Amino acid sequence: MNTPDAVVVGAGPNGLAAAVTLARAGLAVRVVEAADRIGGGTRTEELIEPGHVHDVCSAVHPMALASPFFRSFELPRRVRFAVPEISYAHPLDGGRAGLAWHDGAATAEGLGEDGGAYTRLFSPLVREIDAVTGFVTGPVIGVPEDPASAFVFGRRVLGQGSFLRRVRFAGATAPAMLAGVMAHAIQPLPSLSAAATGMVLGAMAHAGGWPIPLGGSHAITDALAEDLLAHGGEIVTGHPVERLEELRPARAVLLDVAAPMLRALAPGLLPARYLRALGRFRFGNAVCKVDFILSGAVPWANADIGRAGTVHLGGTAAEIADAEDDVARGRHPRKPYVLVSQPSIFDPGRAPAGRQILWAYCHVPAGSTKDMTGEVTAQLERFAPGFRDLVVASRATTAAGVAGYNPNYVGGDISAGAVDLRQLIARPVLSAAPWRTPLPGVYLCSASTPPGPGVHGMAGFHAARLALRDVFGLAVPPLGVGA
Ligand SMILES: Cc1cc2nc3c(=O)[nH]c(=O)nc-3n(C[C@H](O)[C@H](O)[C@H](O)COP(=O)(O)OP(=O)(O)OC[C@H]3O[C@@H](n4cnc5c(N)ncnc54)[C@H](O)[C@@H]3O)c2cc1C
Repeated sequence: MNTPDAVVVGAGPNGLAAAVTLARAGLAVRVVEAADRIGGGTRTEELIEPGHVHDVCSAVHPMALASPFFRSFELPRRVRFAVPEISYAHPLDGGRAGLAWHDGAATAEGLGEDGGAYTRLFSPLVREIDAVTGFVTGPVIGVPEDPASAFVFGRRVLGQGSFLRRVRFAGATAPAMLAGVMAHAIQPLPSLSAAATGMVLGAMAHAGGWPIPLGGSHAITDALAEDLLAHGGEIVTGHPVERLEELRPARAVLLDVAAPMLRALAPGLLPARYLRALGRFRFGNAVCKVDFILSGAVPWANADIGRAGTVHLGGTAAEIADAEDDVARGRHPRKPYVLVSQPSIFDPGRAPAGRQILWAYCHVPAGSTKDMTGEVTAQLERFAPGFRDLVVASRATTAAGVAGYNPNYVGGDISAGAVDLRQLIARPVLSAAPWRTPLPGVYLCSASTPPGPGVHGMAGFHAARLALRDVFGLAVPPLGVGA
């Protein structure tokens, strides 16, 4: 390829989604990636010992099936997914557990007297999941295609993001389950932004489920890269882009980079107002990740948890709120909220016979250099006595290590920008088209733009849609397998 029509900086899922959309419209597209491998937050590697395949970052993919972009791209025809019958489990002390079965009715049944309230909370969202997904992955400003579903969603976010959530349930299990899904946002509980995250993830648990790609998350970006190459695109790895001027004369530049990085890429070119907006952009708190190799399956006190793809550790809603409060105040929780995925149960090829791998992370203050292996192991041991005896090897990546791994995860913030209420709405600016920058032909397309973190490709798709229209006068092309 001589001079590309468009250059995409960064080969994460958003960058590659943008590149595929542009290439399928007939443009010559080059992707330039800083790391030696594509994938960004979807790389899969033998992190500890040969033959044991770990997801370095993302592991579980509710959005990969639900995202409008991936649905148009027909991802399930390109990547095989295991969809666990229990999307997530939430153990409590004494062997009790909340089980979010893919089947919503079975979930409600397990919650006893709170089953009806749980069903009333989620079933309207599950029924209208396409509308809800369209609403939460679309532009923040604008009239939603289905205002009724947006209203139903908004009412639940208000209810669960405030003290009102306390009055909905009689027992401890359902509130703990809700705290577990809301805590994905790495925000204080309760809060509206955490409630929005929790309502989406909670509904998806009973809609498409929480799937795990066979072979690892890298399969998703491999499928995107393969499609890009098949449509004439080019990928250059091992090349960190330092200045936008390197990329001219491409007519469009799409940046899968953390929003504030645009200041360094375009020194002296941005208007003061936009610079001020980028200056207000805040990175959030962080994660410490711990990967394990085990000599057997986790001995959960409640055996059903072994059938769940994801497990939320931390205990009651109050305990999880306390742990998240510690993080928000810059402290390392003694009993952290821990997100666990057990992929080799569903995808045995990830580990040799007789072995299992386990993926876990907990929340820590931004920039932390503390290895949380002890705290994470203690939470696993609490709900799975005997866990410690199964650990063959483990490897911790501190928040500082996460930041060093990917320039978008500043301070170890895996969301490329805090998911607080302000940045749910203004990400990085309040606009109907926040992907467009003031520089003609230059667009942001990373998780620092709506709809924020997660492997959904939607930020890339929105940015590419704008570039096609603004710069090339083209419409979005068909993205499906046979198109
Ligand atoms: C530990 C962890 C666990 C996670 N778990 C999940 C999960 O289970 N499910 C889920 O959906 N999401 C999860 N996420 C979040 C998810 O991985 C991200 O939200 C997603 O990858 C964002 O995609 P992106 O394309 O915007 O950015 P990224 O995937 O971060 O990709 C950005 C790419 O741009 C490159 N880049 C940046 N600057 C430059 C430059 N100047 N020049 C060239 N290249 C550059 C980077 O090297 C990187 O490859 C997790 C993330 C982490 C870190």
